Amino acid sequence: MSTLINPTTGLELDASPDSASLEDADAVIARAHDTFPAWRDVAPGERARLLRAFAAVVDEHLEELAQLEVLNAGHTIGNARWEAGNVRDCLNYYSAAPERLFGRQIPVAGGTDVTFHEPLGVVGIIVPWNFPMPIAAWGFAPALAAGNTVVLKPAELTPLTAIRIAELALEAGLPEGVLNVIPGKGSVVGERFVTHPLVRKVCFTGSTTVGKQIMAGCADQVKRVTLELGGKSANIVFADTDVAAAAASAPYAVFDNAGQDCCARSRILVQRSAYDEFVGRLETAVKTLRVLDPADERSEMGPLVSAGQRDSVQAYLDGATVAFTGSAPDGPGWWLPPTVVESTDTSEPVWREEVFGPVVAVMAFDDEDEAVALANDTEYGLSGSIFTADVGRALRVARRVEAGNLSVNSHSSVRYWTPFGGYKQSGLGRELGPDAPHAFTEEKNVFIAH
Ligand code: NAP
Ligand code: MG
Repeated sequence: MSTLINPTTGLELDASPDSASLEDADAVIARAHDTFPAWRDVAPGERARLLRAFAAVVDEHLEELAQLEVLNAGHTIGNARWEAGNVRDCLNYYSAAPERLFGRQIPVAGGTDVTFHEPLGVVGIIVPWNFPMPIAAWGFAPALAAGNTVVLKPAELTPLTAIRIAELALEAGLPEGVLNVIPGKGSVVGERFVTHPLVRKVCFTGSTTVGKQIMAGCADQVKRVTLELGGKSANIVFADTDVAAAAASAPYAVFDNAGQDCCARSRILVQRSAYDEFVGRLETAVKTLRVLDPADERSEMGPLVSAGQRDSVQAYLDGATVAFTGSAPDGPGWWLPPTVVESTDTSEPVWREEVFGPVVAVMAFDDEDEAVALANDTEYGLSGSIFTADVGRALRVARRVEAGNLSVNSHSSVRYWTPFGGYKQSGLGRELGPDAPHAFTEEKNVFIAH
């Protein structure tokens, strides 16, 4: 049993889900394996119908799921509703995949050649605590659509919504054993997904350190693996842009979810001639950010997920020179104010490392080449933003920044119908978008002699 804490109050929650042992995990993996042939053989139209029914049941429970995430993870109620809606939308989007998972017919001499996309079997999904609902759905929706069964381990800190979603799947008519949620420790249940020979693929989202261990472990069985890891993304602001608009939007690109977002634009690069104006306007925007009880409809930022995460973020601030901060409630809970650091040295930890909290570092640059070089001076490469009025520059810079997800004159969040993933040590493979079901299949080629 693990004790769950409400991050807003620091008080224990009533719920305390059982933490699975190795034997429990093995039993669920065996059940998912036994269920696989029947699920694979469900007719495409029927699998599609079941996924749409699942989406509809999630939609009926959207408010319940959102409130659960406010309690368990401290997410603002506005964000939490978006997150539950994202689960529904992913299910609806990938419910269109079963009837469209077609292969190709390739011309050959002496016969016919066709390809098939065959499901893998049992897929293991390991989910972090920062976006418990969306990240779970980005894995299970396309995996199920492609005919796999799923074992899913939520983060120890935030298991409640995943447990509820698995119940809703049964309510919607998905057969027992198709979507299995196994709350437990990463070192026990997560590690078992890596070592168990019947788990054919691991989808991991979390820290780069653990991601590397998972990739190394999967090598032993040549197990398929998708990794979504950390980031240190740059928001590049050129002087030719609408500086007021860029400064007004910058806080939301890094302080959303209290900065606990792998896509957080936690480095802001500002062209020197606009630097003072930008930082002045950023200060106004940060000071007016509404850091409130996440259950309050007006709240734009809540607490950090745990005392440990708050301490880890605070340690970065202890070594940095803070320019200014916004506000945070006094009293209990794991709060930190949104914090801005002005950086001049790219070797500082706050500039280089993923802080994963409400901290942003701002630095000046002189020209386009320097902006691109600074943006790319990191082992990460997940996302980023480019603010400029010059469309040629926007495209030039977007092509040169080494990151998987860029937005121009905006900070677009992840869309389920476009591909998502990282360059360099931010990850391996892509999730979401139209091709995601293929990542949960083997392509098989069959030649038939005439
Ligand atoms: P983490 O250790 O990488 O945890 C992510 C998930 O992996 C959790 O479900 C965790 O289980 C599981 N896990 C941990 N060790 C494992 C292992 N040896 N084998 C298999 N699964 C394992 O991340 P964290 O400790 O929660 O956070 C640390 C830092 O990682 C953060 O400060 C942040 O920098 C980064 N992070 C990035 C993302 C992202 O979206 N890219 C998300 C979360 C964290 P438990 O819950 O039992 O630990
Ligand atoms: Mg960890």
